Amino acid sequence: MMNNDRNIMLDLQDLWNSVMKLEAEAERSRKSIALWESRNRELAAETAKAENDYKNINLKIKQEELDLTSIESRIEKSETRRNMLKSERELEALDSELSRLREDRDSRETSVFTMMEKSDELKTRLDELKVELAESEVQTARDIESLKQKIVTLTGESQAARKNFSELRESLSPAVKSRFEKLIVSKDGIAIAKLNGETCTHCNCLVPSSVASGLQKNSYATCTNCGRFLYQG
Ligand SMILES: [Zn+2]
Repeated sequence: MMNNDRNIMLDLQDLWNSVMKLEAEAERSRKSIALWESRNRELAAETAKAENDYKNINLKIKQEELDLTSIESRIEKSETRRNMLKSERELEALDSELSRLREDRDSRETSVFTMMEKSDELKTRLDELKVELAESEVQTARDIESLKQKIVTLTGESQAARKNFSELRESLSPAVKSRFEKLIVSKDGIAIAKLNGETCTHCNCLVPSSVASGLQKNSYATCTNCGRFLYQG
């Protein structure tokens, strides 16, 4: 019976290794999907923000241009009035008003010019983002579709391996079954390890010579350090 248990445990360990590998790969694929979806959301948010910034600056430019038009017309009116004024005091007052208006106009013109430059930059950035987003959405949709298919395949394979594992597990003798089951669901998923000379290849510790020398080719032993089943390769 011992020899049978040893071989069943090795087959079970192989099946379990496949299950873990398949499930880890499916999990990695799910994470990739989540990552790509979140990158696209970020890119879409960035594009929306750039679009909004671009709209806002153009609204400001329009408002500033309206203000400029009204200042220009006030300057024109003041200049016309200036020709009809006779008193020094009135002239002085009007000139100071004119100089204030012209300063205001100049600073607003500078501001419009700066905003127009900014608007051009925003437009360039916005166009780039739109292209980037459109390309990314197409690429991502394709990649996600193929990942989803991969996950379906991996899940099918891991379920089949789990089923084989469950069925074969029932063939273990009661002497090892429950301990094997506890070990296999441990974090590293290793229940049986090869003995290399007198060293357990799972924990790299030496086992007592008597354990090593007593281990038959078709039998199993237990590592005195990590508790895994041991077999001779
Ligand atoms: Zn060990």
